[in-house]
Amino acid sequence: MKEFELIERYFQQESLSWLNAFTSLGIGDDCAIINIPQEQALCLSMDTLLEDVHFPKNAKPYDIATRALCVTLSDLAAMGAKPLGFTLAIRLPSFEAKWLEAFTQGLSFIAQKFHCPLIGGDTTKGPLLVITIQVHGLTKKGKALKRSGAKAGDKVYVSGNLGDSAGALDIVLKEPRSTHVLAQRFNQPLPKIEFGQNLMTYASSCIDISDGLVQDLNHICKKSQVAMKIDRHKIPLSQNLLAHCSEQQALKFALTGGDDYQLAYTANHCENGIYIGEVMTALDSEDAKVSILGADFKQSGFQHF
Ligand code: ADP
Ligand code: MG
Repeated sequence: MKEFELIERYFQQESLSWLNAFTSLGIGDDCAIINIPQEQALCLSMDTLLEDVHFPKNAKPYDIATRALCVTLSDLAAMGAKPLGFTLAIRLPSFEAKWLEAFTQGLSFIAQKFHCPLIGGDTTKGPLLVITIQVHGLTKKGKALKRSGAKAGDKVYVSGNLGDSAGALDIVLKEPRSTHVLAQRFNQPLPKIEFGQNLMTYASSCIDISDGLVQDLNHICKKSQVAMKIDRHKIPLSQNLLAHCSEQQALKFALTGGDDYQLAYTANHCENGIYIGEVMTALDSEDAKVSILGADFKQSGFQHF
């Protein structure tokens, strides 16, 4: 099958690459064209997923697709942005009709759920499967949630349970096609899009938790030049995770494991988050970091290098 046929057959489908109110031109020309409404700003973010680094080589193509789009959309959630479309660069080792069919079904499922159609991309052939997704979203001009607005006196909240995805890792590494409930959390870390948009009116800073709570909150601390005190007893752990491992291990997953894609944010009051700690004045830039009351841990989160 030729490249163009492949694109038309698999990526140019009504269920995946429909035209929404913002897209005046989608797949099929040299560029896609997006109309940005006045008083709105475009938020962009890109993620690359590598076979055997970000997902097991033999994972189901459907799961690879849902995970890839979810983790990328999560960055829009963290800014309070509303998704408007995504582009996909994919490098395929070979042409396999069944694989592509299932892959694009997974993409369609998440695209429809979050009203975010595929608007363009690039298709190449190469030895390893590599998936790069860029998401495009809209926020009100000047209103996006950043990492830099936390203030002493604010409280720290998260949007939901932590550690499930890290807890799933040994399951999906052993059995890439597992349907275990934790594996489901790993494969479909549904981005907190609506939650993020609701935060825009009152949160002072926000980040999505991709590398573990400690490391990601440290980013807020550095950008905002504040310190944080987190109470380990307040960190929400799911029953599924606690059924899978010890409480000590679950806490370690929550603090330092990656892939949760919940939001962590600061605000001076709570509307629907889970309170986990306090923002304090940082004495100096060395002090602009998180401390966890009652926990002892060394490794602080996922890093590539
Ligand atoms: P060009 O040669 O002008 O770069 P391409 O041949 O790469 O164009 O792509 C043709 C059309 O198909 C473009 O509109 C491009 O955005 C789209 N496209 C290519 N690959 C993908 C993909 N993986 N997903 C979505 N759209 C794609
Ligand atoms: Mg061209």
